Amino acid sequence: MRRTAAVWAGKATGVLSRFSRLGGGTTLPGDVARAIDPDVLRKLSRDLKHGAIVITGTNGKTTTARLVTWLLEGAGHSVVSNRAGANLIFGATAAALERAGANGRLHADWGVFEIDEASLERAVEEIQPRAAMVLNLFRDQLDRYGELEAIAKRIEAALARLPDDSHAVMNADDPRVAEIGLNLKRKPLWFGLDDPAVALHELPHAADARTCPRCGASLIFDGVYVGHDGLYRCPNGDFARPAPDLAATHIELNGFDSVALGVSGVRIELPLGGLYNAYNALAAFAAGNALGFEPAYIAERFRTVQAAFGRQERLEAKGRKLNVVLSKNPAGFNETLRTAVDLAGGHWFLIGLNDRRADGTDVSWIWDVDFERLRGRSRVVVPAGNRAADLAVRLKYAGVEAQPPESDPARAIDALIEATPEGETAHMLCTYTAMLDLRAELVRRGWAKPYWET
Ligand SMILES: [Zn+2]
Repeated sequence: MRRTAAVWAGKATGVLSRFSRLGGGTTLPGDVARAIDPDVLRKLSRDLKHGAIVITGTNGKTTTARLVTWLLEGAGHSVVSNRAGANLIFGATAAALERAGANGRLHADWGVFEIDEASLERAVEEIQPRAAMVLNLFRDQLDRYGELEAIAKRIEAALARLPDDSHAVMNADDPRVAEIGLNLKRKPLWFGLDDPAVALHELPHAADARTCPRCGASLIFDGVYVGHDGLYRCPNGDFARPAPDLAATHIELNGFDSVALGVSGVRIELPLGGLYNAYNALAAFAAGNALGFEPAYIAERFRTVQAAFGRQERLEAKGRKLNVVLSKNPAGFNETLRTAVDLAGGHWFLIGLNDRRADGTDVSWIWDVDFERLRGRSRVVVPAGNRAADLAVRLKYAGVEAQPPESDPARAIDALIEATPEGETAHMLCTYTAMLDLRAELVRRGWAKPYWET
C-alpha cells in the first residue's frame, strides 16, 4: 500500500515538475516518494528481473553507465537508468518510479544506476546490485565531498556489504581505488591500461594521490595515464598496482573522434575520443565480462554507441565546427585539454566556468588545472561563464593570451565564432551549468537541438 502510494506520489511529482519545467524533474519525484515510503527503492529494485549495476567514481560514470546500458539493451533487455545526470540515490529512485506501473511494480530486466560516492553505501544496501563498479577517485570541486580518504572509507564500507554473488569491478590503475579493493575480503575484478605508448612520464602538477596509502611514502609512477591513474608502486614494497584481470593494450587515440584498444583478444573501437574514454570502455567491458557477455558481442555493440547525453557534442555554426565537452573538475579538465591540444591539435577555445551548486561553488580548483598546456598553442581563448573573470586571471598566470572575460553566453559565443576561421574546429570546454547556459544560446540560434530531442 505504502509503496503504491509512494510510486503514485512520485509519478505525479514527476509530471508536475516536467510541466512546470523545474529542470526536467529528475530527482524531485524520488524525494517525494522516499518521504512517503523510505523503502521504495529497495522494493522496486527487487522487481528487477536480473538485478542492478551501480557505478561510482569521480569521472566517467555517465559514459560508463551508458555503455553498460547499451550492452544490455543490445541483448534485448529492458533497462532502467538514471540518465539525466541525477546521480544521487534520489535520482535512482526517480528513474525507477518513472518506469513503475500503476500497481507500483517495476517491470524491467536490469537497473543501471550512477551513484555518488557519498550515497554508495545506502545504494548498495537498498539496491543489492549484481555488480558495483568503481572507476576512479579524484578530487572533485573542493567543496563537494570532503577528503579523498574519507570518501575511500565510505566506498570500502559500501563494497564490504555487497551480496555474496555480486562482483566488484574496479580500476587497478587508481591508487585510492586499488587500496579499497585490496582491503576487501573477496578479490575484485581488476581492470587497467597496459600501454606505455600512451602514458605520460610524470604526474600532472596537481595530482592528488601521490602517496602510499599504507606507509605515506611518495609513490613511484612508471607511467601515468589519466590524473593519478597509472603504473605505481611504493618504494617500501608494501603497496603496488594490482595486476589487472582485464588489461587494455595497443591503444589508439584519434582526437575527440574515437579511441581503440585491445582486450581479451578482441579490438574495441569506440566512437568517443580521449584516453579517459578508453577507461570507460574498458570498465564497461569488464562489467559485461562479469555478467557473462562474450567479448566479440561487446566489441560489436560498442562500435555504434553515441556520446552520453551532454558529455561531448559536435555542432556546426556558421561554417565552423564546435566541439562542446563537459569538463567538471581538475582531472577531467586536464584530460579534455590534453585531448583538445595534443591529440586534436586545437587552436580555438572557449572555456566556460560557472559556480552554481552543480559546478562547485568554490572555483579555486581552477588553479589545479594545467591551463599551461594552452600556452603558445592556442590562438584564441575566450573565458566564459559567470566566473569568466576568475578564469581570465588563472589564464594570465598560466601565460596564456586570452580575450577579455565574457560572462554573457551570447557574446562569448560571438567572440569565439568571430575568432575561429571558417572550416576550423573550436573547442568549448565547460563546467556543467556553464555548458547548459551556452547550449541554451546555441539552441536559440538553431545550432543545437534541445536536449529532449537529442
Ligand atoms: Zn608504502
